[in-house]
Amino acid sequence: MARFTDETKERVKQAADIAEVVSPYTELVRRGKDLWGLCPFHEERTPSFKVNPQDKLYFCFGCQASGDVFSFVEEKEGLSFPEAVEMLAERYGVEIERESEDPRAEEARRRKARLWELLERTAKYYERYLWEAPKAEKARAYLLGRGLGEEVLRRFGVGMAPSPWDQVLTGSQRAGFKVDELLAAGLAQKGRQGGHYDRFRSRITFPIRDQRGRVLGFGARALRAESKPKYLNSPEGELYRKSNTLYGIDRARGPIAKTRRAIVVEGYTDVLALHQAGVEEAVAIMGTAITPEQLTMLAGLTDVVVLALDADRAGADAMIRAQRVAGGKGLDLRVAAMPEGEDPADMLQADRLGRFHELVEGAIDLPSFRVRTALGRGDLGSVAGRERTLAEVAPVLAAMGEVVGRDELIREVADRLDTDPSLVSERVRSAPKESPPAPGGNGAKGAPAPAAPLTPRETRERALLAMCIADPKTGRSFIDRLSDEHVSESGAPALRWLREHLDDPMAGLPREDEELTALITELVMSSERVPALEGAMQLNFDLLEQQRLEDSISAAQEAGDYEAGARLSRERAQLTDRIAYAETLGA
Ligand SMILES: [Zn+2]
Repeated sequence: MARFTDETKERVKQAADIAEVVSPYTELVRRGKDLWGLCPFHEERTPSFKVNPQDKLYFCFGCQASGDVFSFVEEKEGLSFPEAVEMLAERYGVEIERESEDPRAEEARRRKARLWELLERTAKYYERYLWEAPKAEKARAYLLGRGLGEEVLRRFGVGMAPSPWDQVLTGSQRAGFKVDELLAAGLAQKGRQGGHYDRFRSRITFPIRDQRGRVLGFGARALRAESKPKYLNSPEGELYRKSNTLYGIDRARGPIAKTRRAIVVEGYTDVLALHQAGVEEAVAIMGTAITPEQLTMLAGLTDVVVLALDADRAGADAMIRAQRVAGGKGLDLRVAAMPEGEDPADMLQADRLGRFHELVEGAIDLPSFRVRTALGRGDLGSVAGRERTLAEVAPVLAAMGEVVGRDELIREVADRLDTDPSLVSERVRSAPKESPPAPGGNGAKGAPAPAAPLTPRETRERALLAMCIADPKTGRSFIDRLSDEHVSESGAPALRWLREHLDDPMAGLPREDEELTALITELVMSSERVPALEGAMQLNFDLLEQQRLEDSISAAQEAGDYEAGARLSRERAQLTDRIAYAETLGA
């Protein structure tokens, strides 16, 4: 992008109010012509951070942090210099001028600006509709019924998309936007018989904004119970990417830097409820698992991230991934064990803010959380159950390495399993470090060692299902071809679940079905490790098909249906040839 003119930089600097920019991060008190406060760059008890509002400069006598209003924004809000200039220019109404610009870059910048404008305009329209339209009565009643007041709803620009098919489409076109721009902004979609229509209809809309407050897209909740899906989001596009967006980050950024902590929740209404209750460092992820990009965004603001997600649903997979990334960024990642089946919004509605704070304060590190979850879930009354639990926690403990707190955790495990700590330590020493829970490509390699080993069929079906999750586009055709006869009894529920939820298998898992939840979690986890090659998928499918044919042949023979038996045998022979051929290629 072309450089700003020097004059632009000077004008932005003149217009910016450094006291206002700094104040979300620390409280400033005037002394003479300067402002003083606790340093937002280091921990201290007496103020040594000085701000000079005339020259827009700051200096800390404690840690020597210093700079101007631009560098403050760069440091504290995780922006680049040009972004900081743009952000302040926007905030203080300064028009930006650039040195002459590469026409293509200029074109791209203009287009983005148009899309932002279109989205902003649409957000305003939805918001007005929510508060003014008689037809939005039900939406208002729903939100207020969830305990969300008008103030917080307006603060976040919550709105409602009306029910007709083309309100946004026609309104925006009248305002000069093209269909192509509506599509790119994710506001319109193509109809089956040509033509276009509004993506969001009859839904409560939550504008999703970037760090600078620009609307990137919407999350939209259905008003009627029968409307599917319950939540419809903007499609991923030129502006909106689910994985690098945090709902509420524009509002939470300052408070996160100030409290030195981010609280990550799962839903839009959780964020609203928390902000309303004064917990303004809360943001939501757009799914069930926090992503590396989201952690990076937070790492620029704080070093403590508390996941206040539904423990069961977020599942081990989300946690492991998060821990890997957080470790690399020096983030202290903690988990607040939320009560089962209750999200923060529910808790606050029941007037239990105190309880929520307790849970957040009591958040524990990830390994402890995982060990305790396994202990809580395990059937500790039986020998087999205790063995399974031990097999589950040993790799977690092993992965911790020799850190403070591990011995204590080992004693806790020994105590709960009614065994000797030295025995647990022994298992930890011999445990594989987070070995892949499901085998990849061709079978037995890397199989886990749980109490009950998997049958060959289970091994294959799990490998195939994991690959289908890893590559849902190709996976879909395999999922559609798999029937219950192809898979084991234990795998059938997972197959049925994936038929409906291949694109986001963790979302909406029925938590009361522990077996299904555990298996899907395991599949999702291993899907991140197995390369999803179509050849490997085909081979696993063929092996399952072979097994199915063998079962059918036995059944036909038992029933005395020799004709069917012969036909199936021919099919099997053809398949066996194909498999042998594929295996030579694969080897
Ligand atoms: Zn300092």
